[in-house]
Amino acid sequence: MPRKLAAGNWKMNGLEQDVSVIKTLAERHAQAGIDVLICPPATMISACAGHGIAVGGQDCHAAVSGAHTGDISAEMLADAGATHVITGHSERRADHGETDADIAAKSQAAYRAGLKAVICIGETLGQREAGTTLEIIDGQLAGSVPDDATAENTVIAYEPVWAIGTGKVPTLEQIGEVHAHIRQSLVARFGDGAGFTLLYGGSVKGSNAAEIFAVAEVNGALVGGASLTADDFSPIVTALEQA
Ligand code: PEP
Repeated sequence: MPRKLAAGNWKMNGLEQDVSVIKTLAERHAQAGIDVLICPPATMISACAGHGIAVGGQDCHAAVSGAHTGDISAEMLADAGATHVITGHSERRADHGETDADIAAKSQAAYRAGLKAVICIGETLGQREAGTTLEIIDGQLAGSVPDDATAENTVIAYEPVWAIGTGKVPTLEQIGEVHAHIRQSLVARFGDGAGFTLLYGGSVKGSNAAEIFAVAEVNGALVGGASLTADDFSPIVTALEQA
């Protein structure tokens, strides 16, 4: 059975004082029977680690070290206390031109450093309207997910680009169709494909989490805006516990 995961991506938000959010989440959910992860900005990882909630990076460089000004390696994230790292978020793909090959290399760097990679895939609005969603998903799975991915070292997050930060959510049928497709493709490619955790991401909130978690093959969520405060994120964690 895939592990359930409620993951928050704080993006470029959060100062030292916001460690209080992690502490509150730990008080409420450290004993939850599911995994709870927050990916704060890299500057906060060491302050956020060790409170009972898993902490992750939002990106990493593929190399261990070297002349890459401003970049952070997977080993550095692990050294700061991270256990996970997001790779291939659509904002990295769009803002930094990251390709599927870059994302596969970053995910392999995560494995090398002992981190779990949360690999993001998803179609744009134009691709959905053109009817090519499943084709895009297939290409991203083939190109971004390394051959040595396992259910232990990798989580797949399906995030339609048009649903991120927009308040627009696909229908439950659309989410179910893509998740079933991803599961099928992982089972066909990997011996333990049935065990990978599959997250949905894109405008998940306390008010829609339960219905999304009831969709087959949805094992949790990757949450942006609604992960920034404990009061917004807690109902999502609770909905997943109860799913
Ligand atoms: C995200 O950034 O991965 C995300 C899903 O954002 P939001 O929940 O704000 O749509």
